[in-house]
Amino acid sequence: MHLLLLLLMLVQPAPPARAEPAILLRPARVFDGVNPRPHENWQVLVRGERIEAVGPALAAPAGARIVDLPGTTLLPGLIEGHSHLFLHPYNETSWDDQVLREPESLRTARAVAHARATLLAGFTTVRDLGTEGAGYADVGLKQAIEQGIIPGPHMLIATRALVATGSYGPKGFEPGVTVPQGAEEADGPGLIVAARRQMGKGADVVKLYGDYRWRPGEESRPTYTLGELRAVVEAAHAAGRTVAVHASTPEGMRNAILAGADTIEHGNGGTPEIFRLMRQKRVALCPTLAATDAISRYRGWKPGEPAPAAVQEKRASFAAALRERVPMCMGGDVGVYAHGDNVREMELMVDYGMRPADVLIAATSANARFFRLHGRLGSVKPGLLADLVAVEGDPTANVSALRAVRLVMKGGAVATAP
Ligand SMILES: [Zn+2]
Repeated sequence: MHLLLLLLMLVQPAPPARAEPAILLRPARVFDGVNPRPHENWQVLVRGERIEAVGPALAAPAGARIVDLPGTTLLPGLIEGHSHLFLHPYNETSWDDQVLREPESLRTARAVAHARATLLAGFTTVRDLGTEGAGYADVGLKQAIEQGIIPGPHMLIATRALVATGSYGPKGFEPGVTVPQGAEEADGPGLIVAARRQMGKGADVVKLYGDYRWRPGEESRPTYTLGELRAVVEAAHAAGRTVAVHASTPEGMRNAILAGADTIEHGNGGTPEIFRLMRQKRVALCPTLAATDAISRYRGWKPGEPAPAAVQEKRASFAAALRERVPMCMGGDVGVYAHGDNVREMELMVDYGMRPADVLIAATSANARFFRLHGRLGSVKPGLLADLVAVEGDPTANVSALRAVRLVMKGGAVATAP
């Protein structure tokens, strides 16, 4: 029923501004995405697809629909900074088998379900960092959402992503056999060509793998040179796109920072010196704590047992990044674990030492700024898109309150019935 409502609202032609319906949302408090303290007894007036007014004691204009949301906190729609809508949890099917054996049509059908689950969990925007072998299927998925054919979040997409030849996977096969890869191989001058091709076909963000395990089981080592990364960053920025670099080693991270990348993904082995450099150069970190946590659990880590080395390293490097005040993105690498469970990353950020209000800022106004969306969305401010979520309780006190979603609105259209 609520999906039908969403679809109806999406397909209706926009009436003249005066006649646009107004909705007055009356939660217990509003978290605006910027101020760490929620505003008690504030309301939000939505007209058409935008926020018209925010504040205490707002009067309902004539004909406005009033939606009472007692006991809830109203926040900007959450922004997932690192998703893979074309992946599903690795304990269901290994990453190798998803890339090698699953038909692209099956993966697309799953992605449709994942997009819906993401939106209904309160995540109204995702930065989807590569289809991992599903080609350019994200281009059509994004269009299907924009055209109101299926429900889902606003998408920033990376299409195939870029890897240095020989560095990525699946690997471990007869060396003479050509095996399909989870991203596009490109190097040297061909790397810029490939990045431009991906942007032309739809990439909003250029995703590169700056280090990786060259052979199964070994440590990650740099893949691209500083020169290669610099050239791609220059081409992407000239085209008005951002650059996300997967990097876990200090060397790979340093290359990404010096090349001018916008965000670094993972950063598992980041040192205080590297995190200082990130802050100086204003490079944001997407920590993907939940991916490391999930993979460790898939490998047999049980609650109550001592944390495995990978989790301990992650806790230590995240704490170092917080101490060095690195601009913090919220991105969990969701897809490794279930879509719709995006809050898991936010719970771990709190568990590993970040204040809940700072985690909420990371997932709203900060992510919007890093992804160059802050003029459109990411905070509760007049003129921005009415991407809003109401949850039971106060997530600045307990971030898990985000799991109790009462209302999701995207561009003024209700995706869940209040
Ligand atoms: Zn990823």
